[in-house]
Amino acid sequence: MPIAYVLAGGTGTRMGSSPTPKQFLSLDGQPLLLHSLRAFARCPSIDAIGLVIADAWQDAARQWIAQAHIPKVRFWAKPGATRADSAFAALCSLRDVCAPDDLVLLHDAARPLVSQRIIETNITLGRQYGAVNTVIAAQDTILHSPDGRFMHHTPDRQTLFQMQTPQTFRFAWIWQAHQARLDGRISQPITDDCTLVHAMGHPVALCPGEKRNIKVTTPEDLLFAQALLHSEG
Ligand code: C5P
Repeated sequence: MPIAYVLAGGTGTRMGSSPTPKQFLSLDGQPLLLHSLRAFARCPSIDAIGLVIADAWQDAARQWIAQAHIPKVRFWAKPGATRADSAFAALCSLRDVCAPDDLVLLHDAARPLVSQRIIETNITLGRQYGAVNTVIAAQDTILHSPDGRFMHHTPDRQTLFQMQTPQTFRFAWIWQAHQARLDGRISQPITDDCTLVHAMGHPVALCPGEKRNIKVTTPEDLLFAQALLHSEG
């Protein structure tokens, strides 16, 4: 039973759109988060959808979802202080309904242009390997600088990938990984879930992402997303 969970609990400070977080800004006349909810709803392999959202936005979100006729949205969770805490809140809401091998796809609401191919490939690889990361090969050369002031070294670009979402997991693997984070067995800084599952020693398969699956983080990104949306077909 694959379940997609859309994380829309951030405050979007880098967008500078406060008090409206980025996931609620309008993209082509619709709130950003509705685009990814629709994408998961359209996918026949997705059985149900969950949404992490702050109380203040719940009524509005329920209205948007009703108007868009997305009955697959069946699970709700409140955001935590960090993305990882929000992901854990999502998992807590699924604890009584998911079997250990059920797949959960965790997706950033800020990525409105996720494709059906990416979703389907996540599910196929998830069934095969148990954990999946959506990635694109690094196009720019990337340097490493621990202090952000001076260059330290330049890793071989051929081995570098940028992470996107969704990230897909067997429920038991991601649940146990978050338990390890919460009890301090994994202490590195975490901004995604695959890193946690990988730190537990599980293999993580790579699903080819797409450049158009961008994360809307700044006002420029919203313009790019708008342009990409209209470049479709
Ligand atoms: O901050 P970042 O861009 O990594 O956020 C990625 C996604 O995680 C966004 O869709 C954001 O709404 C969500 N998020 C969340 N809870 C937080 C922080 C971020 O659901 N506390």
